[in-house]
Amino acid sequence: MQIITRVKEMQSWSEGVRRAEERIGFVPTMGALHRGHARLIEIARKECQRVVVSIFVNPTQFGPREDFHRYPRMPEEDRSLLESLGVDVLFHPPVEEIYPLDPPLTWVEVNKLTDSYCGAFRPGHFRGVTTVVTKLFHAVKPHRAYFGEKDYQQLRVVERMTRELLFDIEIVPVPTVREENGLALSSRNRYLTPDQLESASGIYQALLKVNEIFQKGERDAERLTKILREELERIPGFRLEYAEIADPDTLIPLEKGPIHRGRILCAGYLGNTRLIDNLPLAIHHT
Ligand code: AMP
Repeated sequence: MQIITRVKEMQSWSEGVRRAEERIGFVPTMGALHRGHARLIEIARKECQRVVVSIFVNPTQFGPREDFHRYPRMPEEDRSLLESLGVDVLFHPPVEEIYPLDPPLTWVEVNKLTDSYCGAFRPGHFRGVTTVVTKLFHAVKPHRAYFGEKDYQQLRVVERMTRELLFDIEIVPVPTVREENGLALSSRNRYLTPDQLESASGIYQALLKVNEIFQKGERDAERLTKILREELERIPGFRLEYAEIADPDTLIPLEKGPIHRGRILCAGYLGNTRLIDNLPLAIHHT
């Protein structure tokens, strides 16, 4: 596996691969890799001749009181995992490569889709995400980029940005990878104590419960949302930030009346650790 730290070098590698008419699959990450990241990489590996993974803890997507400085960094472990997955290039730039001029004056912003949910509670977060993803796309020049459904709002925002900015890149969504107890894998799970880990599994159980009630025929958005919040508020130590059912494409909140599909979205804290999760609501025809 090649390790590249400079944008120029990354670009010329990709140009070479493109000249050879090979497809480049790209998985952007912030490191502290787990089986969720590994799933994205495995799918990229199957679909593309060349796979690039970036590790970049992006300062602009963290708020001033968020965990940028203590975000887990474990370069050695990450490297050996990436080697074992057959990754061609680890792109691991320092901050000055991605933000060459200080302060940055140029931002990429997606409106509306970023107003609610995580966007409402993390001002500037999605602006940081869309800006860094744009820069990484310019550096890596991929044909396909893989994003987890774990960060559902992010996935929709990146898809929208890719289309509107005319990037010639296919965004490939990948379903959430979970622990056996249902907890969605996240680098931030490392912050959790054993008790908190136990509580955290309740988030998925709450989402499943709402889905079960939906499958049994409850279609009223208001009643489903009420049950969702009650279930989440029952989790020991969990401080709910938001819990909503949204249109899966437009992310418009579905607050009233009958619904036939939706995406449950939620976020909250266990101690100082912010956790998010989501689940599709769709009628299963048997
Ligand atoms: P991060 O390193 O947290 O920025 O995540 C990098 C990519 O991995 C993003 O596209 C995430 O949505 C995805 N990802 C993180 N956790 C999971 C998971 N449990 N299952 C699937 N994808 C994930």
